[in-house]
Amino acid sequence: MPENWDLEADIVVIGFGAAGVAASVTGCELGADVVILEKAPEGREGGNTRVAGQGYLNTSDAGQAATYLKALCGPYTVPAAMVDVWAAEMCRNNDWLAAMGGDPQEHQHPPVGIEFPELPGSDCVHKFHDGPTYGYSYTWKRFESLVKKRPIRVLYETPGRELIQDGATRAILGVRAERDSKPVSVKARKAVVLTCGGFENNQDMIRNYLPGMPYCYTSGSPYNEGDGVSMAMAVGADLWHMNNFAGPSMALKVPEFDTTFSMQALHFSKEMPGGMIVVGPDGRRFTDEKFKTRHGKIPKNGKWMPLVTPCPMYMIFDREMFATGPLYDMNPSHSWNPVVEQYQRSTDNSAELAKGWITAAETLDELAEALGLDPETLTETVARWNQGAGKGWDPDFGRELMLAPFGEGPFYAVELSPSMLNTQGGPRRNEKAQVVRPDGTPIPRLYSAGELGSIYSYLYQGTGNIGECLAFGRIAAREAVAQAAWE
Ligand SMILES: Cc1cc2nc3c(=O)[nH]c(=O)nc-3n(C[C@H](O)[C@H](O)[C@H](O)COP(=O)(O)OP(=O)(O)OC[C@H]3O[C@@H](n4cnc5c(N)ncnc54)[C@H](O)[C@@H]3O)c2cc1C
Repeated sequence: MPENWDLEADIVVIGFGAAGVAASVTGCELGADVVILEKAPEGREGGNTRVAGQGYLNTSDAGQAATYLKALCGPYTVPAAMVDVWAAEMCRNNDWLAAMGGDPQEHQHPPVGIEFPELPGSDCVHKFHDGPTYGYSYTWKRFESLVKKRPIRVLYETPGRELIQDGATRAILGVRAERDSKPVSVKARKAVVLTCGGFENNQDMIRNYLPGMPYCYTSGSPYNEGDGVSMAMAVGADLWHMNNFAGPSMALKVPEFDTTFSMQALHFSKEMPGGMIVVGPDGRRFTDEKFKTRHGKIPKNGKWMPLVTPCPMYMIFDREMFATGPLYDMNPSHSWNPVVEQYQRSTDNSAELAKGWITAAETLDELAEALGLDPETLTETVARWNQGAGKGWDPDFGRELMLAPFGEGPFYAVELSPSMLNTQGGPRRNEKAQVVRPDGTPIPRLYSAGELGSIYSYLYQGTGNIGECLAFGRIAAREAVAQAAWE
């Protein structure tokens, strides 16, 4: 217990993304004094929500939604009470947003439709945005405005570091945060709500929890470093869904940037002329490079499993593709690097070649040597691809898109890393958004919402994350407000 509290509020919300918005706005509407602690500096807040495709799920029917969620979870079941609360609350997202001052509009949300139409209940899926189009932070800008126009204090560059817990009752009394490298003690008279996102940028947690991942990077916020997982564990929380994540895909990660760049040539809906394959460290292909995964999952023996990404992976391509135009996605509608860092790509790939992001060589043998691959195997892999592609078929993985054989050298390579949108795991919560211990009992005065310990245990329906942020952010705040202040 600190000798003095530096500041206090009824509800302390840790993290200013969609879940933090739903919790703080709901709390404020119910008359609570709310403070948000945010790790990022002002202008870089908003987490993954800010750079997402901006769609959120509003299901049309609670019964169907419950059926669909149960089917998405498959053998990784979640308690019926959680499913029912999720299903009921996900139908109310539009009503809530409209009542708070937003403008929900149904959109097709092009990257994902009904993601698993073959599963029962999938007709309940309806995707909404607050803005005229996909991406461009529109929905986030609305969310942020809902906080800004209310008396909710936001402290930027103030990460939560530790939860302050009563040694006897185990109730959470406040948060030890940090500002200008100094500790700040924040008293939470009623409750703390953890909404600080996942562990996308914590390589130790990635190695510990994500299946088959020696490393993985995100295309989202660099500030989500698993702090909520550590803070919750330190006060006795159970964890769940730690091995589930929205990924992997394959993308470019360079030392100059914390997060990944997507590659146009790998995108299922984008055609770039020229020969292109991806090989693993053995110089062989391991997948259909243009396959549209379902948030990283691919079908295997009748089941959905994460795409296997043998690291390091190399995208190998020919002169025609290099000369066609930028290899990086020029559409800046979503992801951290285009939206926040606003990296200016060269239109002819020359700057990226000069930086060493692209490797060039006159022959395949030289390229293989530069990459540390076996030249004979790489040459054989390309020859095999050329043989099939020349006749319009993929000799190994049934790829149907961009089946061009390789032309003349020079040849090029880009090292690819596994990339993800977000993790789903974190402290386990119950139907009241209370964070619970391994025995299922709640840790008093501690709530959570959003992708930190999300409900998605296995398959994921796109737009479900932001939808869940809104649903459980509201639940957490309602429950927190109902608490009596602890002094
Ligand atoms: C490129 C991309 C596209 C996506 N598209 C969609 C989509 O269209 N629809 C959808 O539903 N989902 C989408 N997702 C997933 C979705 O964006 C996230 O799961 C969701 O926005 C998470 O919201 P959140 O509030 O839980 O966390 P976030 O929005 O990530 O916010 C967490 C906040 O906590 C802060 N924080 C971290 N640690 C601390 C700390 N110690 N103290 C204080 N603050 C801290 C972070 O800086 C951040 O501001 C996408 C993700 C990405 C990366």
